[in-house]
Amino acid sequence: MTTTTTDVKALESRYVLQNYKRLPVVFERGSGSRLFDEHGRSYLDFISGIGVASLGHGHAGLAQALGDQALTLSHTSNLYFHPLQGELAARLSALTGLQRAFFCNSGTEAVEACLKFARRFWNAKGDRQRTKFVAFTHSFHGRTMGSLSVTWEPHCREPFEPLIPGVSFASIDNVSELDRLVDATTAAVIVEPIQGEGGVRPIPAEAARAISAACARSGALLIADEVQSGSGRTGQFLYSPAIGLTPDCIALGKALGGGMPIGAAMLSDQVAATIAAGDHGTTYGGNLLACRAALVVLDELERGLQASIRRVSTRLFDGLAALRARHASIVDVRGAGLIAGLEFATDAAPLVTAALDRGLLVNRTATTVIRLLPPYVVTEQDIDEGLAMLDDAIAHV
Ligand code: PLP
Repeated sequence: MTTTTTDVKALESRYVLQNYKRLPVVFERGSGSRLFDEHGRSYLDFISGIGVASLGHGHAGLAQALGDQALTLSHTSNLYFHPLQGELAARLSALTGLQRAFFCNSGTEAVEACLKFARRFWNAKGDRQRTKFVAFTHSFHGRTMGSLSVTWEPHCREPFEPLIPGVSFASIDNVSELDRLVDATTAAVIVEPIQGEGGVRPIPAEAARAISAACARSGALLIADEVQSGSGRTGQFLYSPAIGLTPDCIALGKALGGGMPIGAAMLSDQVAATIAAGDHGTTYGGNLLACRAALVVLDELERGLQASIRRVSTRLFDGLAALRARHASIVDVRGAGLIAGLEFATDAAPLVTAALDRGLLVNRTATTVIRLLPPYVVTEQDIDEGLAMLDDAIAHV
């Protein structure tokens, strides 16, 4: 069946829940760092499906592995063993330093699992007081009720209140509040090492030290939400070590599956030992297709992609510094590896459209920030081309 653009938009507006505000473009195929619309127009993709398509689009190795896996075995559920979960868990354990993996299907589920496991940890120890969570201003942890409860952004939270009780938010710019907020009733502190949706804000080293100190003082667990910052995005598998955080639980998602839905909660042995069979689960979690995709992503990272991210990142941040020097409207440039945020003095929404008109895909977050999350396969030439388009877009807005 062929559909026209009008059909696509008309069908969606008639039958699909109108909870997304889409840009007026229909993508039909992709290759590497590029997407092509229904007229064959090429766009440089500097958002990669919000940090997901880590190997870019139409990756032959990933496609071959998924095709092969689909013909062999796709899904059996967690009633039985299959060959790939243990292999992927062992690889992730070596990469994160946390001993056990729980697999799920999205970032929010990975966060949800970490929150539940933190509660279960204290419950198993007989400490029924320790049920609270401390999160941070500007945080985003997902849309399910638990993850939403630790998400700061009021417009995400407020229509769904009351959320789970016992959550407080410490100011990321005034971490001395942790002295007051983290105590013997805190199950866990949860933090994004780089706050993605909150405007690409790497946690300052000083704040990370205060978080570690608060957890050490009170015994509270530390959950690092590396859904956006992890899985190689910053040139290292995780960003937590770069700022000196040693979490008990880590949430992973997005780039890990290269486009296949997968999430993972990585847990220390200490936490994992308190989880009993039947405490938590999900039908799809860790199915063969998702595990196979993640194994391909990890192989590619090891085969040179991780090093390439570090090299290309230098080009990206040099280019962004040059843009900042040219445009007074840019008030800050933040990020690491292949996650970057350009903060503007005013709403950055018109820039997203201006970039799209020029063939560049970026997105806006936290109202004033243009976020770049290119695929890991992006080249230095792509960066030069993309930044030239962004330069022109900024000049004309
Ligand atoms: N945690 C962080 C840090 C995220 O950036 C996101 C999504 O943007 C999530 C959790 C939720 O992930 P998902 O949309 O896959 O549920």
